[in-house]
Amino acid sequence: MEKKKYVYLFHEGNASMKNLLGGKGANLAEMTNIGLPVPPGFTVTTEACTRYYEDGQKIADEIVEEIFETLHKLENITGKKFGDPSNPLLVSVRSGARASMPGMMDTILNLGLNDETVEGIAKLTNNERFAYDSYRRFITMFSDVVMQIDKNKFEHILDQVKEENGAKFDTDLTAENLKEVVRRFKELYRNEKGEDFPQDPKMQLLEAVKAVFRSWNNPRAIVYRRLNDIPSDWGTAVNVQTMVFGNMGETSGTGVAFTRNPATGENKIFGEFLLNAQGEDVVAGIRTPQSIDQLKELMPEVYAEFERIAHLLEKHYKDMQDMEFTIEQGKLYFLQTRNGKRTAQAALKIAVDLVEEGLITKEEAMLKVDAKQLDQLLHPMFDQAELKAAKPIAKGLPASPGAACGKVYFTAEEAKEAAAKGEKVVLVRIETSPEDIEGMVAAEGILTARGGMTSHAAVVARGMGKCCVAGCGDIKINEEGKYFTVGDLRINEGDYISIDGSTGNVYGQKIKTVEPQITGYFETFMKWADEIRTLKVRTNADTPRDAAQAVKFGAEGIGLCRTEHMFFEEDRIPAVREMIVAKSEEQRRKALDKLLPMQREDFIGIYEAMEGRPVTIRLLDPPLHEFLPHEDEDIKALAENMGITFEELKATVESLKEFNPMLGHRGCRLAVTYPEIAEMQTRAIIEAAIDVKRRKGWDIVPEIMIPLVGELKELKYVKDVIVKTANEIIEREGVKLEYKVGTMIEIPRAALTADEIAKEAEFFSFGTNDLTQMTFGFSRDDAGKFLNDYYDKKIFEFDPFAKLDTTGVGKLVKMAAELGRGTRKDLKLGICGEHGGDPSSIEFCHNIGLDYVSCSPFRVPIARLAAAQAQVKNPRR
Ligand code: PEP
Ligand code: MG
Repeated sequence: MEKKKYVYLFHEGNASMKNLLGGKGANLAEMTNIGLPVPPGFTVTTEACTRYYEDGQKIADEIVEEIFETLHKLENITGKKFGDPSNPLLVSVRSGARASMPGMMDTILNLGLNDETVEGIAKLTNNERFAYDSYRRFITMFSDVVMQIDKNKFEHILDQVKEENGAKFDTDLTAENLKEVVRRFKELYRNEKGEDFPQDPKMQLLEAVKAVFRSWNNPRAIVYRRLNDIPSDWGTAVNVQTMVFGNMGETSGTGVAFTRNPATGENKIFGEFLLNAQGEDVVAGIRTPQSIDQLKELMPEVYAEFERIAHLLEKHYKDMQDMEFTIEQGKLYFLQTRNGKRTAQAALKIAVDLVEEGLITKEEAMLKVDAKQLDQLLHPMFDQAELKAAKPIAKGLPASPGAACGKVYFTAEEAKEAAAKGEKVVLVRIETSPEDIEGMVAAEGILTARGGMTSHAAVVARGMGKCCVAGCGDIKINEEGKYFTVGDLRINEGDYISIDGSTGNVYGQKIKTVEPQITGYFETFMKWADEIRTLKVRTNADTPRDAAQAVKFGAEGIGLCRTEHMFFEEDRIPAVREMIVAKSEEQRRKALDKLLPMQREDFIGIYEAMEGRPVTIRLLDPPLHEFLPHEDEDIKALAENMGITFEELKATVESLKEFNPMLGHRGCRLAVTYPEIAEMQTRAIIEAAIDVKRRKGWDIVPEIMIPLVGELKELKYVKDVIVKTANEIIEREGVKLEYKVGTMIEIPRAALTADEIAKEAEFFSFGTNDLTQMTFGFSRDDAGKFLNDYYDKKIFEFDPFAKLDTTGVGKLVKMAAELGRGTRKDLKLGICGEHGGDPSSIEFCHNIGLDYVSCSPFRVPIARLAAAQAQVKNPRR
């Protein structure tokens, strides 16, 4: 067997090798091969990372050997030597997974420096200050990332030395100052670790590689993966690259730039850079960088070259690029390119522009927008009148658009806790770091005092679609005191502020937010999505208002109308309760007669809102106890109201108690016990359809859906009640009205016997909420209590109630679809569980040939795009 290759020099790879080399590695390879100025290096593959974990967190000898063999080749390429004081090779060691995970894993720069090579570098460059500046950075990064020594301890020493020497910025420190910094750093290291800072570059390299592998499983990376559907078995690659230095003086620098504006999509290079700095300084937002336009003035030739390559990269990758570059004494190097993260607004504009510029097809454009991101466009903006009346107290950078209003919290932890209690929260930080990710998720918006448009907060917020104002230097944060000040104004923890991520304005007050308007690029893009997709998109809606909203978002019908939601309304719950406490069928029918006209009006409203589009109405589903109070006090009040005794009502409540209500007397079982409920609902559905047909001329074909079926005969029993009732009305009214009777498939037994069920059901709608609950055997209401343990222990990577478990639950869905269609060729198939609005689940539904997905109104645009993406990836026509 041929030996597996675990290490690739950049020129041995290419862009198609993302899975093996990670995104960064594959792109470095590609850039090398198209002749761009990329410092040479090599990539240790993602397979080496998985192998590291398989081998019990050890790098196998053969991989160690391959790393050093390749390092030797790199030495030959560069003419430098690892650990050689006369001409030392220094490298960066950086993570790079298949999907980009900005800031989630670790990076080490200047590796290869030790007490001897630092002197060599000083001599070679004739720049002692630079050499020691690089060394102190290396000691900090290595100690932090590899040895887990708190980096604040190093920052503290640096600040001390700055203070002792009256230096304002790092760049004000002299070579002698920096030597002193290094001396104290090494002393700190010795105190922390009980040994000297490692001097052997090879040992430094191996430890750094291991640290990057380990960082794949740090808590923030795990959270990020779950949010972004990235499986944990992908692993990360490690890129080892020859260092070039942006900190060699005023003709050196480093920066990050995008080929188009990542916030608005404007077709203009957008970016930031810092002179005399290393990459970390820009990304971490430690010094506030200059705009790339200024580079044009400072170094016109370098800028021209930069612009040329940026355009070339965009054409090559056919997408907006996010590039990292370094200028070493006037010479430009590219350190990375990747498809840039962007706001939804920018994503749509860029996708439409790229099609119009002839660079990509409409189909390709579909894949340039993250479906989940569309959520951002549907997020609130400020009420214009209230906004006009408000006066900003400060202004920062408009880092991620949208509006947020909430109570101020200063740590991610506290923001998370407050949000869990139902508070709306704005997270305010001096600068964010990847550890803050959960607090950022929980917050309505994020405000930072430091950092530019490419700082961590900005990049991550944009990806999440969270409103973010960054680099707001006007505010002075006192984290310990839990307040910030702007001039004389003091805002304490728990006070309300509002932030506008589109203007950068900060307001010291509450401002009402309103729903956004959708136009322009969104419409063009969604029109293309509709032309492309084959999967239909319906909505789950129980009221005319929700139905109308969904139609505005492009819903093609209702896939699930949960009738019980109507029963909870104030004007009808008394009749519902009367029905429940009824002692005889006669009494029950009397109560149902009161409900009939109200229910009929419900359906008329819904049919009208849907303007003739298909509507699936589900018969009553929840256990009846849900409609009754449970506390004695409430029972007493209700009994009085209903004119019955407390004891009588209490007895009814007791009799309806169940140990496992979700597996109890609910769904079609209610209709088996009380067929008159199904009768009343059928009457309302059919009479409403006749009424709307007569008045509006729409040919409504009601789809009556029976929930929680597990056995053909129970389906048949309820269906007979429906058919008898419906046909009597249709005959009596002398109209032609078609209707369908179908069922939900949400009990595993229904899926297993779907061929039988399809004999009576004219359509199936997969209720994957219940199907997930019953397939896993855990309750949809209680799973939240232990799912976190499952994520922590890597038993689950995602919530199966949010993203369909395609391996298990999906297998049942696929099987039932096939069995059902085997019996009834034209069986209509849909899904109405929460998964109907989740892009990866939608792709699965497309692939197994469902006719439609149904989801809540605000997720309809997401589903339309996800359906188009599924069609592009796997054409069904
Ligand atoms: C389901 O179970 O997936 C479903 C849509 O029904 P409900 O959530 O109302 O139980
Ligand atoms: Mg259900």
